[in-house]
Amino acid sequence: MTISVVGHSNPDTDSVTAAIALSALFNAQGTEAKACMQIAAADLNPESTTVLKRFGLAAPELLEDAAGKDIALVDFSDLAQGPANLDSANVVAVVDHHKIGDVTTNSPILFRAEPVGCTGTVLNKMFKDAGVAIPKDVAGGMLSAILSDTVNFKSPTCTEDDKAAVNDLKAVAGVDDTEELFMAMLKAKSAVDGVPAKDLLFRDYKDFDMKGKKVGVGQLELATLDQVADIRADLMKAMEEVKADGRHTVLLMLTDVVKEGTDLVVVSDDPALVEKAFDGKLEGNCMWIQGMMSRKKQTVPNLQKAFGC
Ligand code: MN
Ligand code: MN
Repeated sequence: MTISVVGHSNPDTDSVTAAIALSALFNAQGTEAKACMQIAAADLNPESTTVLKRFGLAAPELLEDAAGKDIALVDFSDLAQGPANLDSANVVAVVDHHKIGDVTTNSPILFRAEPVGCTGTVLNKMFKDAGVAIPKDVAGGMLSAILSDTVNFKSPTCTEDDKAAVNDLKAVAGVDDTEELFMAMLKAKSAVDGVPAKDLLFRDYKDFDMKGKKVGVGQLELATLDQVADIRADLMKAMEEVKADGRHTVLLMLTDVVKEGTDLVVVSDDPALVEKAFDGKLEGNCMWIQGMMSRKKQTVPNLQKAFGC
């Protein structure tokens, strides 16, 4: 029976490319396998879609029900994250980098989990151990997954093994500039093109009560502020409309993930209070605040203090 190789539900780039890579390794070793995922290709997230397109990889096929199938798991080993009826499937392999989950088997299986930043890093070692050359397109996918999972090496989960794997894989994939690849993925993930300004404001938005005053704070995570350069006037208009609906202040955090700071856009009955909250000076309607990344940990506590909460 052909082995269906599948990653976790709500798949990220690692789950998608690891399914592709492990099925390629199995096939190279004479075991028939196919890459699968738990959603249709059309529902794949923008980052993964960009990666598949860039390296010319086909999207894994949809697998909804695991009953009676031979299944290999990548990037997870929890039944809850698997396809329906995984508990009555025949799990033949697990390759992962998370805590061990609750999947059990009746026979001995290939099980490889390591405390590294990405399944792609583990798979790179498996290809090496097996003496199998990684196809160029597959290496591109694995490379992208490591950059994504480790947030371009910035995540605390990133290890020296992940960095070494990136060095191996960029050569095979013919990628000179991994920074550029990471930025392209980040831009895809944070795309704002064609989305109405109000939808962007509400993409990640919360209202707070500050001493009886209603204060709204939205946040957009961006690869670069250039992404919103052409729609700033539209965003302001949306903010003013939302403020007019009974709010004292509406803030929009335009967070530059690369520069690790936020351009804070302010519409308020009392702009000076907002300046005081962040010890900044508004230029027009906004101010750059270096190091501001978190609404929960930074923006809201500072506001509460200024409002006297
Ligand atoms: Mn994952
Ligand atoms: Mn992963």
